[in-house]
Amino acid sequence: MKSTVRKICQSCKTDKSLSDFHRNKTKPDGHNGICKVCQAEVDKKNKPKTSA
Ligand SMILES: [Zn+2]
Repeated sequence: MKSTVRKICQSCKTDKSLSDFHRNKTKPDGHNGICKVCQAEVDKKNKPKTSA
């Protein structure tokens, strides 16, 4: 029996399956509010480039 839990990314507002979200223990549902794709973008912006 498949159970596909879906969730809307708070960043791109796209309806995605929970597997598209990183796990996050601090969140009520155990997953990030934004999807992996958006999280990667956030990480890119937050982390300064170390390769010079
Ligand atoms: Zn997203």
